[in-house]
Amino acid sequence: MEKTDYIIVGSGLAGITLAHQLKQAGYKIKVISEPSLSKSSRVAAGIFNPVVFFRITKSYLADLALPFAIDFYTQIESLLSISILQKRSIAKFFGAPDEPILWMKRMEEGVGSYLSEINSQYTESITLNAKHSMGMVHKAGAVDCGTYLDASVHYFGNDFIREKIDYKKISLVPEGVIYKDIEARKMIFCEGHFISDNPFFNYIQLKPVKGEVLTIEFEQDFPEGSENFLLNKKCYLLPLGQRKYRVGATYNWKDLNEEVSEVGLAELTAHIKEITPIPFKVLVHDAGVRPASTDRRPIIGTHREHEQLAVFNGLGAKGVMLAPYFAKELVLHLTQKKVPHKEYGAARYNR
Ligand SMILES: Cc1cc2nc3c(=O)[nH]c(=O)nc-3n(C[C@H](O)[C@H](O)[C@H](O)COP(=O)(O)OP(=O)(O)OC[C@H]3O[C@@H](n4cnc5c(N)ncnc54)[C@H](O)[C@@H]3O)c2cc1C
Repeated sequence: MEKTDYIIVGSGLAGITLAHQLKQAGYKIKVISEPSLSKSSRVAAGIFNPVVFFRITKSYLADLALPFAIDFYTQIESLLSISILQKRSIAKFFGAPDEPILWMKRMEEGVGSYLSEINSQYTESITLNAKHSMGMVHKAGAVDCGTYLDASVHYFGNDFIREKIDYKKISLVPEGVIYKDIEARKMIFCEGHFISDNPFFNYIQLKPVKGEVLTIEFEQDFPEGSENFLLNKKCYLLPLGQRKYRVGATYNWKDLNEEVSEVGLAELTAHIKEITPIPFKVLVHDAGVRPASTDRRPIIGTHREHEQLAVFNGLGAKGVMLAPYFAKELVLHLTQKKVPHKEYGAARYNR
């Protein structure tokens, strides 16, 4: 029997980020995952944005989670010798006429530290489209999730086991949990929307959201300097260099498979045309399912009956920004019995 401190199930943003933090804290870990099951973290555009554009409000716990995430990914870059973090402002182009009014109001409220003044002169020099007015969101950017996850799996070496978990082979014992020939103090489930297949945690009901993304190549250059910005109007355009952009994403609560669709392609294509008249071709079209919770808060904590089992889920559309901070909170819960706040503690599902 091989002994370890923690078995982590799942190798998306939640599982991998938790594995790094437990390892950094000096614990032995095993990650068991079949990455091909869920594409969510791999197809993610990787954007982090402290502002929610729907009502121009601050994203949940952005003031805490954002600086923590930047520090975490910077450390990962040096640990794994990779380059994954791009810090960029978002050029947000307004659509509805009341958006600039709300933007100015929010500048005077708590969101102000992330927002710039409105500018109606500048947009043609970014997108060749003079119709917009816009504001900038500062302290945003993107993480290359695929590179982060692949390099991490490589780094974990033999502590990464590629397999689909067989829930019937999990035995709970007084000192912890046994899975096949591995014994651990606790097992932490980070399966994204596949939590519904988990017989221990299927009492936690998610509200998953399918998303589709594109990688496109424009047929001519954008104005010089525009590649410094992430662009947004109904969708994001993330510059990848050499006229290539990642475009995302759609939101679909009904069609919860991981297949790309003509409807998703048409929606994203229409959004791109609203941002710029430059023609483009589609290179890659991807889809995944975001593990969103009904109250849009992450879910961390211990099982309602079995203290050998814990969960990390509910990252929704904000996994990049939230995963590092909530992995840290979960490490404190697992190792120092810190009770998670009721807003994001798994205990809110106990009733
Ligand atoms: C199209 C799209 C675009 C997105 N863009 C962004 C973005 O720009 N910025 C952002 O912050 N977020 C974005 N997201 C959301 C982000 O991807 C999620 O928050 C994140 O993927 C959640 O990570 P997770 O680890 O909880 O789940 P997942 O990524 O789903 O990971 C779950 C892991 O568990 C494994 N697994 C599941 N069941 C089992 C089992 N039985 N046995 C073994 N392994 C199992 C899966 O294969 C996978 O490795 C996007 C999502 C989508 C779909």
